[in-house]
This record gives sequence, structure tokens and C-alpha cells, in this order.
Amino acid sequence: MIPVPAGLDGLFPPAAPVLFVHAHPDDETLSTGALIAALTASGRPCFVLTATRGERGEVRAGVPADDLAALREDEWRRACAALGVAGHAFLGTPPARSAAPQRRYHDSGMVWLDAAETLAGPAPDAPGDALTSADPAEVTADVAAYARAVGARVLVTYDAAGGYGHPDHVFLHAPTRAAASGLGVGFVAVVSQPRTAGEPVAAPAAGARWFDLAAHREAVVRALAAYASQLRVDGADVVHVGGQREPIQLRIGVAAAR
Ligand SMILES: [Zn+2]
Repeated sequence: MIPVPAGLDGLFPPAAPVLFVHAHPDDETLSTGALIAALTASGRPCFVLTATRGERGEVRAGVPADDLAALREDEWRRACAALGVAGHAFLGTPPARSAAPQRRYHDSGMVWLDAAETLAGPAPDAPGDALTSADPAEVTADVAAYARAVGARVLVTYDAAGGYGHPDHVFLHAPTRAAASGLGVGFVAVVSQPRTAGEPVAAPAAGARWFDLAAHREAVVRALAAYASQLRVDGADVVHVGGQREPIQLRIGVAAAR
């Protein structure tokens, strides 16, 4: 076992299961891969709950995209395995479902709001079953169902700014926070990161603390390799299909909230 850096112990009790709530396959790795690897290595079982299958994401030229959801699911399973997660589920599918019948929440899509492609906003043609069109109370209940099933003691998701602003990320903050509050467990927000080098897209959350988790780079790079249809690693950077670059996130900011 590898202890976590001092300070993380206060947010994540020793040996306590942790549930990461994410919007799309790849988010667990891109924004929290190093944190999942660090917590897992320290003996805290980590679970990943992903809301959509990233049906509206881009793929590299030449990748058959006729069943993008199936491709994403496969990549996500392999990435979770590389990070050492103890279990994973899609929101709306039992045990991450509070009522029958089960359902799928769909990727809402996004458009870039700025020329530098650092800040995202809602797609004008989001489908009717998009995550962002869902009843937040239904999402809260489904998150809570999975958290209960895995015995999570801490829930982790994006801060209120939703990372780089993808509407699905923004949307998940409140229901996840409400689920944690309803269950009486901890809630930790991952602080927004700049999409590219430069200024963060949002003011840092109050009380944010930053942790250097570079010791877990190897696990993160292995998980990133699972997403070969949509990104590649180039030195210290992740390069997305659209050419956008971002540093591999090994320094992670978190803020606890009640
Ligand atoms: Zn995402």
C-alpha cells in the first residue's frame, strides 16, 4: 500500500469506499485518473459511475463509429481496469437505478464558446433524453442508489463550474452533491482545470487544495491508452482528436463541501 499525500487523509477516511461520478467515458481518467490511482493504491476502494456513453464525442479519422456507445463502453472498462477501480456502472442501469424501468441518459453534446476551445456550452440540438434534460431528482436518486450499493463514504464529482464547462459536467454537480447530503456521506469537488495551458476557466473553488500525484503517472498513462479512438499521449500532454492539448492531470485540486 502506498499512503496518500498528507491532507488527502482528511477528505478520504482510510479504507473507506469512494464513488467518482462522471459524465462521459474518459472523464474518470482525464480529470481524476491520478486521484483514483492514488486512493486505490492506498487501500481505499474506488468506484466509477458514468452518466452517459459519450455518444456525441469525436473519434480519430479511420475509427469505425457506427456503434460509438459500444466502443466507448469498451474503452471505459479497460481504462477503469488500468486505474484499479473496484467497480463501475452506468447511471440508469441497475444497481445505479432507483426505479424500474432502467433508462439511458444520453450525452448532451456541446459547442465551443471561444475560438481557443477552452470553454464549452450546450449544443443547440441536445436530444430529448439528454442528461441535461433529465429531472435532477431522478439523477440524484440513481446516484444515491449506486452509492448505497457500493457502500460509498465519499462522493466525488466536478465543481459547480463543471471543469471546462461541458453542460453534462455542470449538470452533475448538484445531483451528486444532493445524493451525498441525503446519504450523510462526504462530498468532494474536483476543482476546474484549464483545458489548455493558461488561465483556469473559472475562479478556484473556496478552500481548494492541490495535491501532487505524479507518482501515479504510469497508471494514468495506461488508462489513457485505452482511449486510443479519441486521444493520444504526447510527452506530458494529452492530444485530443480535434488537436486540443491539455497536460496529463497529475496535480489535482479538490475542495470538500457539505
Ligand atoms: Zn466529459
